[in-house]
Amino acid sequence: MKKLDLSGIGMTSLRTRNRLIDRLKSQGIKNLDVLEAMLATPRHIFVDEALSHRAYEDTALPIGHNQTISQPYVVARMTELLQEGGKLGKVLEVGTGSGYQMAVLAQLVDTLYSVERIRPLLDKARQRARLLKIDNVRFLHADGSLGWDQYGPFDGILSAAAPSRVPENLLEQLALGGRLVMPVGDSRRQELVVVDRTQDGFEERTIEPVKFVPLVSGATV
Ligand code: SAH
Repeated sequence: MKKLDLSGIGMTSLRTRNRLIDRLKSQGIKNLDVLEAMLATPRHIFVDEALSHRAYEDTALPIGHNQTISQPYVVARMTELLQEGGKLGKVLEVGTGSGYQMAVLAQLVDTLYSVERIRPLLDKARQRARLLKIDNVRFLHADGSLGWDQYGPFDGILSAAAPSRVPENLLEQLALGGRLVMPVGDSRRQELVVVDRTQDGFEERTIEPVKFVPLVSGATV
């Protein structure tokens, strides 16, 4: 597992972070690598200073541009599902947002490819990656529903934005034996969906109801 460099930042007390980990465990998160990565990730640097006192609560919080940093439970759950799919060499993340999920994943995969359509969010996430000396993530400002063809196929694909159905391009860029984890649905009802690509095709199952921002086509300038 890769370690984040926390020397450049003020770290919230271990007690505060441990409380979040205890909560995740009580909600059923079991994978020790995922729990360790969640414990090591300084969520307070991924939100505005005015909200940093709430960073270790298990809730989504606004990050501007009508977007939110994902709820820790759902980050842990999706990461756990991705991990259970097998070895994570190359992984594609759609919807970098604040970069929080990116920082958790970066500790668990060989190389992460993270795509975001809102440039100012991507720029900030990139700065945060630099601050934590994360060196195994490549960022792209683009419409992530198209995937990142140049680097595919991916062992894992994870999206933090919900389309009404799984985009065809993402399925095409999933490696044989690979796994995709993403919310699917509309503003009224969304389910977390897992798709495994096997010799026989694609096997899809739903996990639990979730609430994410919508996947929007096209990148902003
Ligand atoms: N994992 C992020 C969650 C951010 S919310 C975090 O922990 O902060 C989801 C993000 O998906 C938003 O930043 C939104 O701009 C982005 N998004 C929505 N549609 C997208 C698309 N088609 N391509 C890339 N990013 C998209």
